[in-house]
Amino acid sequence: MTDVLVIGAGPAGSSAAAWCGRNGLDVLLVDAEEFPRDKPCGDGLTPRAIAELDGLGLSPWLEGRARNKGLRAAGFGQELYLPWPGGNLPNYGGAAPRLELDAAIRQVAIDSGARVLESMRAKDVVMEGNKVSGVLFADGTTISCKRLIVADGAKSQLGRALGRTWHRSTAYGVAARGYIKSHRSDDPWISSHLELRGEQGELLSGYGWVFPLGDGEVNVGVGTLATNKRPADVNLRGLLTHYADQQRETWEFEGDVRAPWSALLPMGGAVSNVAGANWVLIGDSAGCVNPLNGEGIDYGLETGHLAANLFANTIVNPAMDYTTVWPQQLLTHYGTAFSIARRLAGLITVPKLLPTFGPIGMRSQFLMTVALRVMGNLITPEDKDITARLWNFAGRRSIKLDERPPFS
Ligand SMILES: Cc1cc2nc3c(=O)[nH]c(=O)nc-3n(C[C@H](O)[C@H](O)[C@H](O)COP(=O)(O)OP(=O)(O)OC[C@H]3O[C@@H](n4cnc5c(N)ncnc54)[C@H](O)[C@@H]3O)c2cc1C
Repeated sequence: MTDVLVIGAGPAGSSAAAWCGRNGLDVLLVDAEEFPRDKPCGDGLTPRAIAELDGLGLSPWLEGRARNKGLRAAGFGQELYLPWPGGNLPNYGGAAPRLELDAAIRQVAIDSGARVLESMRAKDVVMEGNKVSGVLFADGTTISCKRLIVADGAKSQLGRALGRTWHRSTAYGVAARGYIKSHRSDDPWISSHLELRGEQGELLSGYGWVFPLGDGEVNVGVGTLATNKRPADVNLRGLLTHYADQQRETWEFEGDVRAPWSALLPMGGAVSNVAGANWVLIGDSAGCVNPLNGEGIDYGLETGHLAANLFANTIVNPAMDYTTVWPQQLLTHYGTAFSIARRLAGLITVPKLLPTFGPIGMRSQFLMTVALRVMGNLITPEDKDITARLWNFAGRRSIKLDERPPFS
């Protein structure tokens, strides 16, 4: 029995459990895997993620790990160096293997008072009226709870049991990563190749990346965008090997790519039924991934933090119902940015658009600096400059045109 049950100990669930614990709530964090556990990811941390990790007290942990100045964007005959803009956020990003990062965030949750269980797969919910009264696990155990936070990732088995629907008519990600030894593992820039070509030389609607980890290895990966109408017809493992071979000389790779792993990614809040009377979905399970760069660690950390604060502020009110409150909060924080970003992501999947506009964008340091800022979710509510105003205006217009706005 617990007041708050959190299912899934990725960045979202561990952040939620940590902030619940810090708010004095009785919280239990349960995961299907045994920690430390790996998961497919590029391991890239934007300044916004760094700020959330700092709030969790992980700055000392990040010291001495890979730190980067910004993005080296390459493609269509150009190479641009785009520093992180700074402003209200740190002026550096980072990268840390998820095997280590997720265990560290989970440890913060434990240190903040959360109890934890591992190797327990949640299977279904137990309902009492319109409320979840407990969660049933694969081993037959039931844990009772007053409130539930679902943070079980992109597939979200428990979310599905609660009626969560992922709309694949909206752009989603298909991505693969691996690790490889590199003599440039301490390069101070993360690199993205925006002209990603398949084995036959065809241009794909995605990008390849090399994220230095500072430990003798880099995270190398490829990701493409897809929709129901335009599925990604690509062999990801083959593409990953092909891309790594293309980068071998530049990055001074040694040996083969190890631990290749691919996954699908819901994006831009393209998920409905994200909350009920006493439960909420956070992180990937709520589709909180940036449609333009596939970033989700920060959104997981942030939505975990938000959900914990919401629970802490409403725990005294047993009649509190989150069914509309939670999607509204998500909409306030991410709605306009997700709406415009996923509209642009949808356009990128249209054949001929990328080959036409990609080279134009890459010729302009100014346009790409703006792109990095909007793609990296680096416009904060406090920003009032022209780019921020235009982006927010476009977002407000876009959401009005949405047949199905984010989180609905
Ligand atoms: C190839 C790839 C590259 C990416 N690169 C980046 C990047 O560079 N930077 C970035 O910010 N984001 C990146 N992302 C996105 C990022 O990995 C996710 O957005 C992020 O992990 C979301 O965190 P989460 O806590 O919501 O989910 P997860 O990290 O997936 O955690 C979910 C947890 O739930 C547990 N779980 C699942 N089902 C159950 C169950 N039934 N019962 C109990 N526990 C369960 C799992 O074991 C897991 O520990 C990438 C994604 C992919 C696929």
